[in-house]
Amino acid sequence: MKPLFSADQIRHATRAVAAAINRDYAGRPVHLLGVLKGSFLFLADLVRELQVDCTVDFVRLSSYGGGTATSGQVAEVMPRRDALAGRHVIVVEEIVDSGTTLARLLEELRAEGPASLAVCTLIDKTGRREVEVPVDYRGLTLEDGFVIGYGLDFEERYRHLPAVYVMEESDFTPAP
Ligand code: 5GP
Ligand code: MG
Repeated sequence: MKPLFSADQIRHATRAVAAAINRDYAGRPVHLLGVLKGSFLFLADLVRELQVDCTVDFVRLSSYGGGTATSGQVAEVMPRRDALAGRHVIVVEEIVDSGTTLARLLEELRAEGPASLAVCTLIDKTGRREVEVPVDYRGLTLEDGFVIGYGLDFEERYRHLPAVYVMEESDFTPAP
């Protein structure tokens, strides 16, 4: 697999995002809402760079429809979550692709009446956006391609890798 973003690049990008959040939320407590499973490493590294008062929670979503294309429907599959009313919420994603998942989630979260709602993603994959979503903080940008590592999986594997790699066509099937 082809290396795309090294552990060093990820660290640097995470620090830049944290610095922006520290600046923008100075004096205001933030509530970070990580989208599982993919964001677990990014969120863990991000919070350790934050100086603002923060709380952490997670949401887990399930997309229905199967196949490789996003179905456009998402549902929360974790039963309990902290209330968002009156809080400064930052949704933390590892990657935004079509934007479908995030758009649906934001709609749902907004209905709970947070004081503010922002989006933070480690990787903004810009070339396949289908739904316009506000990305307030982005660490790294990618035009297209399927990536794995640092939280990102292929069939639940590779999430533990400390760097991000591009999976090519030939990586999807075992070598003959
Ligand atoms: P979207 O709804 O924006 O199309 O993407 C939803 C989810 O698809 C992302 O949060 C992520 O879990 C997954 N995804 C999108 N692009 C990639 C990718 O390049 N690699 C991996 N492993 N997952 C991806
Ligand atoms: Mg995700």
